[in-house]
Amino acid sequence: MEENKEVQEEIKEEPKEEVKVVNTDTNIKNGENRCPECGASDVTYNIKKKKLVCNYCATEFDPENIEGLEKDLKNLEGETRTTGVKDIDKDANDVITLKCGGCGAEVVINTREATNARCHWCRSILSINSQIENGAVPDLVLPFGLEKKNAQEKIENFVSKRQFFAHPTFKKEFTTENIMGVYFPYLLVDANCSGKFAGEGGHVAREYTITKRNSKGEEEKETVYDIDLYDVERDFDITIDDLTVESSKDKLDKNNKNKTTNVINAIMPFDTENCVKYKANYLVGYSSEKRDINISNIEEKVDKELQDVGRHALNADLKFYDSGVEWNKEDFKIKGKQWVSAYLPVWLYSYQDPNKILHYVAVNARTGETMGSVPMNKKRLWTITILIFILFLIIALFAHDKDEAPIVITIVGLVVSLVFYGLKVSKYRNKGARHTYELETKHELKVTRRVDNHTHTKRECSSRYIAGANNKMITGEYTNIKE
Ligand SMILES: [Zn+2]
Ligand SMILES: [Zn+2]
Repeated sequence: MEENKEVQEEIKEEPKEEVKVVNTDTNIKNGENRCPECGASDVTYNIKKKKLVCNYCATEFDPENIEGLEKDLKNLEGETRTTGVKDIDKDANDVITLKCGGCGAEVVINTREATNARCHWCRSILSINSQIENGAVPDLVLPFGLEKKNAQEKIENFVSKRQFFAHPTFKKEFTTENIMGVYFPYLLVDANCSGKFAGEGGHVAREYTITKRNSKGEEEKETVYDIDLYDVERDFDITIDDLTVESSKDKLDKNNKNKTTNVINAIMPFDTENCVKYKANYLVGYSSEKRDINISNIEEKVDKELQDVGRHALNADLKFYDSGVEWNKEDFKIKGKQWVSAYLPVWLYSYQDPNKILHYVAVNARTGETMGSVPMNKKRLWTITILIFILFLIIALFAHDKDEAPIVITIVGLVVSLVFYGLKVSKYRNKGARHTYELETKHELKVTRRVDNHTHTKRECSSRYIAGANNKMITGEYTNIKE
């Protein structure tokens, strides 16, 4: 096979000073959001009606949209940022005091915990709506679409399929009564990009069987492939819509040994196109976590994720190359980028196991997609694993009169029992579960130039794939955030 050449990666960006700021902090102020009909401040979001509704007179309010963002992503140039993504001021006070318009009392809101509170004296609801500098108020919110009882069913169903090896204490204590509706903070990124990729692609021209002699001189059959190799080049334009990235350090840390945060990542994507302008009223009855990440912390990661989306989108134009493509040059240019912050809704079950590991079962409160981890009864799992192995040992014992059979059976038994162990752990823990942003992020691709020149054919290859194929590689997932 060809030598493994270094992939030249170039990410070019427009100069930083061209940041265009979109002010989303308009027509909205802190205090009571009073119903224009009856003056009540008790206005909350109704899942069934998909509207904010006054709880006294039932007047319904249409959700608002934010203005000033570029909708035709082909027009994006330079960097656009909303006021809801501005850098967090570390000294900003989380505790804010508002004067109640109902009775004049002072109401304290700790924005670390909630962005609204009820006045103790007159029961008016007061809200923080304007974008304070501590990251607690985003541009957009995607309201809950799934009711608690539906989320409970999803979680119960998920756990019921993971019973036999579940930890006994967990089984005894499991209840979905106190699951929490949480708004987690995310950054949504739109981008207008172009690429010039060049490399070598392979196509299986023939698949056939040959007879070979092995080291002992015995005849063996082997399937081999003749692979046509091509010089491949693609120039393309791509717009990427709402690449979604967690914007809290806690949720970005998907390899945390004490929490199974990766399952929260895995329930993406959300239907972010249905986000509406943020108002604290949407959060009544739910919990929320504030953003603690600035753009500068994740910009490098995001740029690589955008390139991952581009690389994978291009595969739709490379179906002929069923042996893969090895890109030697990836010139990926981000011509325009637009950042928005949003709260997205999650139903969350959490459970701390006896080893102090926090397990989550998370439900996407829009799509219902569910992922989780269930604490295991490792004693039971090891017992069954060892029993499987012992079973193979017994079979090996019965085969003692045949040359190498006992050793082969023992090795097979070891492999089978360890695979069994691995599959069960993976089913209960779901450590590998992740959001496949490179495939699931909305995009529009236009290929503007193609080169496909046949160079030569490699015969009798033992694999149907070329060794250096990298057209399905991802890099953004493995790029750490900057402190
Ligand atoms: Zn009203
Ligand atoms: Zn009051």
